[in-house]
Amino acid sequence: MPPINADLHCHSTISDGLLAPAEVVARAARNGVELLALTDHDELAGLADAREAARIHGLAFVNGVEVSVSWGEQTVHIVGLGVDPACTVLADGLADVRAGRDGRAARMGEALAAIGIRGAYEGALKYVGNPALVSRSHFARYLAEIGAARDVKSVFDHYLVRGKPGYVEHVWATMEDALAWIHAAGGLAVIAHPGRYRLSKRELDELFVRFHDLGGEAIEVVSGSHNREATLEFARVARRYGFLASRASDFHGPGESSVDLGGSDPLPEDLTPVWSKL
Ligand code: AMP
Ligand code: MN
Ligand code: MN
Ligand code: MN
Repeated sequence: MPPINADLHCHSTISDGLLAPAEVVARAARNGVELLALTDHDELAGLADAREAARIHGLAFVNGVEVSVSWGEQTVHIVGLGVDPACTVLADGLADVRAGRDGRAARMGEALAAIGIRGAYEGALKYVGNPALVSRSHFARYLAEIGAARDVKSVFDHYLVRGKPGYVEHVWATMEDALAWIHAAGGLAVIAHPGRYRLSKRELDELFVRFHDLGGEAIEVVSGSHNREATLEFARVARRYGFLASRASDFHGPGESSVDLGGSDPLPEDLTPVWSKL
């Protein structure tokens, strides 16, 4: 298969991206992306608009979603690619995941109020494009706006990660459920940005083994959050477990994401791209 510019993980205003679904697609087309998946967090509502925009731009499009999963103490993200948005097993499962978000956001607001930052919940809502999908990213944009830290990234480091005052524990989907929903919807399951998890080598291996045992198919080898060393490490993981390989910017918006749509490095040539099975 000749290499193509595939970008199989990005976000729109339907979750925590800055561009509407059709704007994401237009930007991808402009950037030379040849195959795009929109993968909003826990939500399928952007797919119809994105698909229509992709048709207009002559860009091949894959339905996607990024499911939030609790894995022990960690949150891990599982991308589903090629999912049928009409599948009620997937849609109902994601609706349950989303249902916890507003209460969590209110608790984040209270936690921030306790350290003297009042009105953060209301402030975050100004940045929300989909009321069912309040995310830490929306809090981060508001906290950056009021100057709580110099930019979104450092707001996360100071307020929104575990151990920091605005972080609240939350229970997401189980790994079993996430894979069952994705598979029920005819999709392939992909471990998103494995280089981002705070897991030891041994714990990461436990994650890959479990994911593989549950029928998980693929891993993001190239990700906007991986450096070259991480890419090489997860290429080895793909070979060892027989995982298909994905390539993803994880683009959230201009100015916020270091890698633009379609701007990722190519996959190592010996790996089987996940898009060969889509
Ligand atoms: P949530 O699903 O509400 O917990 O929000 C998770 C989102 O926050 C991720 O998808 C990223 O977009 C963003 N995020 C998480 N950690 C960081 C970080 N350290 N720096 C910047 N953005 C982050
Ligand atoms: Mn995000
Ligand atoms: Mn993610
Ligand atoms: Mn993502």
